[in-house]
Amino acid sequence: MAHNKHHKQLVFTVKDRCRVCFTCVRECPVKAIKIINGQAEVISERCIGCGNCVRVCRQEAKVYLQQIDEVKQLLNSGTPTIACVAPSFPAEFAEIEDYRILVGMIKKLGFEMVTEVAFGADMVAAAYKNLYRQNNSKGIISSDCPAIVFYVEHYLPELVDNLAKLVSPMVAQSRFLKRKYGEELQVVFIGPCIAKKAESEEIDYALTFTELRDLLQQQQIKADVALARDFDPPYAGKGAIFPVSHGLLQNMDIEADITKGDVLVAEGRINVKEALNEFSQGSLNARHLELLCCEGCIMGPGMSEEGKKYLRRSCISNYVAQKFENFDQQQWEADMKLAETVDLSTSFKQMDRRTNIPSSAAIAEVLKSMGKNEPSDYLDCGACGYDTCVEHSIAIVQGLAETEMCLPYTIEKLHQSIEKVNLSNQELATAREALKQSEKLAHMGQLSAGIAHELNNPLGVITMYSNLLLDDVTDDTKRSDLQLIVEQTERCRKIVGGLLNFARKNQVRLQETNLEQFVDRSIKSIIRPKNIKVELNVNMTDPYVFLDCDQVMQMLTNLEKNAVEAMPNGGTLTITLTEKNEDVIIAISDSGIGISKENKEKLFTPFFTTKEVGKGTGLGLPLCYGIVKMHKGKIDVKSNTDPENGPTGTTFTIRLPRNPQ
Ligand code: ADP
Ligand code: MG
Repeated sequence: MAHNKHHKQLVFTVKDRCRVCFTCVRECPVKAIKIINGQAEVISERCIGCGNCVRVCRQEAKVYLQQIDEVKQLLNSGTPTIACVAPSFPAEFAEIEDYRILVGMIKKLGFEMVTEVAFGADMVAAAYKNLYRQNNSKGIISSDCPAIVFYVEHYLPELVDNLAKLVSPMVAQSRFLKRKYGEELQVVFIGPCIAKKAESEEIDYALTFTELRDLLQQQQIKADVALARDFDPPYAGKGAIFPVSHGLLQNMDIEADITKGDVLVAEGRINVKEALNEFSQGSLNARHLELLCCEGCIMGPGMSEEGKKYLRRSCISNYVAQKFENFDQQQWEADMKLAETVDLSTSFKQMDRRTNIPSSAAIAEVLKSMGKNEPSDYLDCGACGYDTCVEHSIAIVQGLAETEMCLPYTIEKLHQSIEKVNLSNQELATAREALKQSEKLAHMGQLSAGIAHELNNPLGVITMYSNLLLDDVTDDTKRSDLQLIVEQTERCRKIVGGLLNFARKNQVRLQETNLEQFVDRSIKSIIRPKNIKVELNVNMTDPYVFLDCDQVMQMLTNLEKNAVEAMPNGGTLTITLTEKNEDVIIAISDSGIGISKENKEKLFTPFFTTKEVGKGTGLGLPLCYGIVKMHKGKIDVKSNTDPENGPTGTTFTIRLPRNPQ
């Protein structure tokens, strides 16, 4: 790893598949996943290639660097290429009973030779054993797992000196093969690991077992037709057990010392991080730290998904047993002798990738923006992928995360917007109702304008001729009949004129008026039976308002007449005048029969009437509505028809601005 191949992007996000569940954020030991605009993205410089995110993503939205095509090209080029198969292969290809079939299949892909990296593990184990014996003080961190090496180089650079300056079994194997067969060899590693792809330039390509399966399938190489053949030498010894946990240690033959606490073993991203942190704080005095990012290489991210850990272990043991049945001890010893001449040393660099912790003020600000004002608001629920709200906030300041990732905050925001939507729905409904009303009024305007126009001329003719007749006729009874015709025609013309005015949406002619006196006059102008009482309540400091006297008089008398007509058996007509801010409020109440719910909706519809033919026109309330609108006011109605709900009756409330201009 002396020549670190960094910035080679190992893991990618398939954006279409990502459902932003934040599982990858949670599982990433170095927080190399950033959420931007609700999309997960791997930050190559921070990634250590452990492949946890690939393993945990249920949507298969995380994919790693695929190198099948490059390997195919290499094999086609005719350059002698050796396959180096990681010792975990029996756990992956459990369905192939005789491992020699698999070797035959790999060979058929076009490899010159197929060897097992377990021999490299033998070499490395021997070197570790020496290192362990020689070293008495400083803790040595095993450097065979590339993800661990990247982690130390980037995130605990002060521990780089503690990394064993030894290559991994893969590189050891490659160096040995080049010594034995020639430097011009091309080497392809095949194993369970993603980080291996970025580990060393001494290896040409590193495929995962999953990629090997794909490659075999593409080339249609199947187990049932493949020829069984053994691995090419060197033959491995106990290095074959390397991929199960503690494998390297077992191979080092130092079990006796483990009991003294000299050796510390940790596996899996959480345990490893804890062990390294404790070690860097000086609280551990282990001489050797055996660390693996996965739970043994047999659980690596480049393995097929469904395998179970202990079944995989037993696959390895079975293979080792099978292998040792006809183990060629002499050949092994000869190869190990040659191996002693191979240099296994390497070096590592500090490459600090730690991010600065933002100021506490910046963190507090972000916390606040997510509605977390004090520590009791920090739920630390972990839904965002970070262990605590503070860690999440730090990531937000660093541009790695977004506030929307906080589930409680997002739910709260959702509730608020639902409320807002409900509110504006209500407003919309009211506006729609108002629109319907004004449409009705517009229709009515057109209709009445048409009728009025047609009636105006014949009415004029009737008036003229009846007046002419009136001049000629001397008989008194006939004269009074004619007088009546003239009068009533005149009335018709007034009504028609009124309709024309309404249709033209005449401008209001505002006049300053004493409302109290004005309302009093309106009451006096209507005819009402004796059994109906009238009450006028005034609660105003200033009775003066600006209004169009003709129109408002028409409106008041219409409403008062309606009230009287609703009380056939007598009752009380109450008119109340109040003021609110710059508005005056006129409430006209009766103790009559009330208005049913379904009729209430039709009140302002032109020609709606419940009165007998000839009596009601159904134009009173639409006219009132128009007049109120022209004064920029509002009209409301409340009514009760059911004596069980209290006294029956109706109240029309008109709210007018004191000065509509
Ligand atoms: P009209 O009085 O010619 O029927 P309006 O437009 O004035 O036309 O009134 C429409 C209908 O509304 C009336 O027929 C009546 O059914 C109802 N209405 C109006 N005001 C009242 C009221 N104060 N009490 C009961 N019903 C009323
Ligand atoms: Mg009426």
